[in-house]
Amino acid sequence: MKSWPEVYIPTIDSRFKFPPLSLFNSASRKIQELPRKDVYRMYVCGITPYDSTHMGHAATYLTFDLVNRYLRATKAEVRFVENITDIDDPLLERASRDSVDWQVLAESQIDLFRSDMTSLRIIPPLSYIGAVEAIGLVTNKIEELRKAGAIYLVEKDLYFRVHSDANFGSRSHLSHNEAMKIFSERGGDPDRAGKENALDSLVWLSKRENEPGWPSINGEGRPGWHIECCAIALAYLEPDSKDEYLIDIQGGGSDLIFPHHEMSAAQARVSTGKDFSRMYVHSGMIGLDGEKMSKSRGNLVFVSTLTQSGVNPMAIRCALLMQNYRVDRMWSQDLLYQSQTFLENLTLQLSQTECAPTDQVIQSIVNALANNLDTEEVFSILRQWIKQSQAGLTGGQPGELSRALDTLLGLAV
Ligand code: ZN
Repeated sequence: MKSWPEVYIPTIDSRFKFPPLSLFNSASRKIQELPRKDVYRMYVCGITPYDSTHMGHAATYLTFDLVNRYLRATKAEVRFVENITDIDDPLLERASRDSVDWQVLAESQIDLFRSDMTSLRIIPPLSYIGAVEAIGLVTNKIEELRKAGAIYLVEKDLYFRVHSDANFGSRSHLSHNEAMKIFSERGGDPDRAGKENALDSLVWLSKRENEPGWPSINGEGRPGWHIECCAIALAYLEPDSKDEYLIDIQGGGSDLIFPHHEMSAAQARVSTGKDFSRMYVHSGMIGLDGEKMSKSRGNLVFVSTLTQSGVNPMAIRCALLMQNYRVDRMWSQDLLYQSQTFLENLTLQLSQTECAPTDQVIQSIVNALANNLDTEEVFSILRQWIKQSQAGLTGGQPGELSRALDTLLGLAV
């Protein structure tokens, strides 16, 4: 799948010191330091292309863009892979509801997503992989799981035995009742007759009438969602056999912790014998004006609607970074206004020939980001610097600060 254009990232002077990056790992429920490495492998779950790109999507991809930028600034190589679920039930349901061809709908939304990612200055993935193009990989992965005794048939569909992974549940920490509830809310089928365990997950859905299907050794059909990510991540991130984990970071919104990330991780572990990811990192949900933002409420705010109405994408970027990535937070007109005002003040001070000292500001921003991406602290540091510059303090290098904000935060001002 075609990705989107590369983003220019200025280099940062070597006098600035980069502490190891600490992130909250949902699996250990602790803030953990990522070990220093030359190569990091990061997999971020992509969208299903029927409704792109709302503020929740934008916040997620921005979070992992900050991770990517920080690790690159430490001179490490970041292998970043993202998928796009270009065949799945929600896409077919939306296409049917709107009487459009599902492929036409998917293509239009993928195009929109690429253009939104470009305007938000998100570094593109090295490999951007669709579910349809990964069907061969999924079929191979199912074979590996079958050899491990983890696959069974219900009518013509294939299921993964979740308890074939002794660590099942260790990434999401839910009680059985919570897991059952969330599983059925998020596309699972706990009540299907013939399943050995209610939480077992679908890996291959045989072709249904009036739905697309692809030939495979399992008959004509289409892949399940969790195995799609497992297969794509392991094929395109090429795990290092010397590392105890297959990849370093599995990322996505917090609504993916269960069942999606738990299932993909279990499938990876059963098929390879190794733990999937060193860290499971999740960004919070974005609501609107005090309410949950959701398709069913019809209150989604889209990046493209805002940018088409003339909103600077950098103001969207700033607004979403003003609070910590892990916090469930609200989008509002007032937040956007605050962000626009902040950007105007910042741009004005950065365009002066004289400004308050910048060295400590840049180092403090680096330190704040290293501390679980503490962007609230970053904004507090910048507000302080703006005040000092407005008060007439001098000795800083506005160009260097401007470039550092671009490098670390993706803010082109
Ligand atoms: Zn995924």
